[in-house]
Amino acid sequence: MDISQIINELGEDREHYFNAVAPPIVQTSNFAFKKVADLSMAFEDEMNGYLYSRGLNPTVDILRRKLAALDGAEDCLVFNNGAAAIFAGIFANVKSGDHLVSVKAPYTWAQRMFDVILPRFGITTTYIDGTRIENWEEATRANTTFYYLESPNSWDFAIQPIKEVAVLAKSKGITTLIDNSYCTPLYQKPIEMGIDMAMQTATKYIGGHSDTLGGVLCGSHAMMKKIFDSEYLNIGSGIQPFNAWLLIRGLRTLPARIERITRSTEEVAKFMQQHPKVDTVLFPLAETFPQYELARQQMKGACGLFTFTLKTDKREPIVQFCESLQHIMMAVSWGGHESLVIPKCAGIKPRDFDPVNNTHKYIRMYVGLEEPQYLIADLEQALSGLD
Ligand SMILES: *Cc1c(COP(=O)(O)O)cnc(C)c1O
Repeated sequence: MDISQIINELGEDREHYFNAVAPPIVQTSNFAFKKVADLSMAFEDEMNGYLYSRGLNPTVDILRRKLAALDGAEDCLVFNNGAAAIFAGIFANVKSGDHLVSVKAPYTWAQRMFDVILPRFGITTTYIDGTRIENWEEATRANTTFYYLESPNSWDFAIQPIKEVAVLAKSKGITTLIDNSYCTPLYQKPIEMGIDMAMQTATKYIGGHSDTLGGVLCGSHAMMKKIFDSEYLNIGSGIQPFNAWLLIRGLRTLPARIERITRSTEEVAKFMQQHPKVDTVLFPLAETFPQYELARQQMKGACGLFTFTLKTDKREPIVQFCESLQHIMMAVSWGGHESLVIPKCAGIKPRDFDPVNNTHKYIRMYVGLEEPQYLIADLEQALSGLD
């Protein structure tokens, strides 16, 4: 289906709500029934009708249909945030005694789940350098039931050979989930590459305005039903109607924003690459990127985030640089209208800062919707203030 049709029409039933262009926010907790038989049917299969908004809700359903189509998936569940989507996608598919293989340094709260929550149930995780298919094969054990991918990683942009990992997983009956937040389905479609579940945080690009959270999990209808009937309903981490409405609104302009951010990122990253005080710039579609060829093959584009290091071995200049920006804000998250930086060393105790470990010097920048020259001028003044 055409992306414009998905975004503007799919799932919308305008004649049922006064031909309003924007859909209604069906802000209700419950739905009334006239017949006991109908109520019984809803109890039997809550994914088949409206009973209670912890399950299905009409506003959320419009969003679900659009997001499933964007990912080329049969079905989709929308959660209150991305971390909840990751949690449900994994938790529904593992049991005591299982072993998981995950890319190293995945998103913080995925890693927290592997390190803190799953071990309580006797479930262990092996972290690997996921860039080579051999590493997946070697880490796989008789009790491995789950592969966790994040491609590209949101800090160093390490990518996995997605199709090969999917083929390997299928041959061993292993379930796969990928965090596709960086690319969104506009730039990468993991379901079409054979991955079972594509997750993305809707807090970032889909919301697009830094004013709401959301998480997307796409996959087969059978997989989504399995998760809906257990984790989705039981943990109650489904998205609320108003937040779903904000995400529908965000979707309307997603391609236009991604296009603009793609162009601006190129310009800003190019400026940083040539600056004498900048050491390295990491960006998956830069020719200097170690996995440039694979990135070109499996991603239609890249934008927004890039990571750089300054020519310094100390923590102080990194701090000084970040604190002297006047327009670019320092904050977590990304995907909104506003440009951001975040230094890796903020999460490392000053005495543990290791100049030999290049990752400690990472500064990640997100390029938002401002004029690129406005951002470049701010970066220039912060860089030139360093001695
Ligand atoms: C933000 C983020 C998440 C989690 O999404 P929330 O909506 O914040 O819970 C997951 N993965 C990546 C790569 C992210 O950047």
